[in-house]
Amino acid sequence: MTLLDPEAGPLLVASHNAGKIAEFRDLLGPLGFEVVSAADKGLPEPEETGSTFEENAQIKALAAARATGLAALSDDSGLAVDALSGDPGIYSARWAGPNKDFARAMAQVNEKLERSADRTGRFVAVLCLATPDGATRLFRGEIEGTLVWPPRGALGFGYDPMFRPEGQERTFGEMSAEEKHGWAPGQAHALSHRARAFRLFAKEALGVS
Ligand code: IMP
Repeated sequence: MTLLDPEAGPLLVASHNAGKIAEFRDLLGPLGFEVVSAADKGLPEPEETGSTFEENAQIKALAAARATGLAALSDDSGLAVDALSGDPGIYSARWAGPNKDFARAMAQVNEKLERSADRTGRFVAVLCLATPDGATRLFRGEIEGTLVWPPRGALGFGYDPMFRPEGQERTFGEMSAEEKHGWAPGQAHALSHRARAFRLFAKEALGVS
């Protein structure tokens, strides 16, 4: 028995972030899901009052599932920089300010790292699946990497242009969505934090390995 059935109705992606929604459509589409987003439904964005990725993912998924009566999948994610004690972490979106200025957020990370020899960090994504009865499941994915300067590439979103994943020459900002997910021909494994968390979700919730 699987937790979710694509035939049972659309899956609500509990996000207003266009970059994340596009990635979820890429990931869920091939599994037969119709995807609607919290932005499509005009749902308010709940305040992220948690102190961990897990808590914030749960807040978003539960709010969306309760408001719509649909199964909802949320993502709380961010960039955790080792020399900054894990910052910006759960505050990754907030570092970009109300205008969502990621050039500024990336410059801030770089300024804080200027005197550091250590430029390592990781992207973290925690997905939460919530059903309208209030049950939740969490799935966590991470990808280690190095923070480069200046930023490179105009693809992806957020901090992608300054993040070079381990074992790769290019930043996420220089990779197509397929390469970032790890789906390009010749790539055998999920690469991005979101694709890694998604693989756990697909296995447990859908029985897809
Ligand atoms: P959230 O909506 O609070 O989870 O915000 C997560 C923030 O982390 C996003 O707005 C981005 O700034 C950053 N982030 C998360 N995942 C990625 C990614 O795949 N690439 C680049 N930035 C990301």
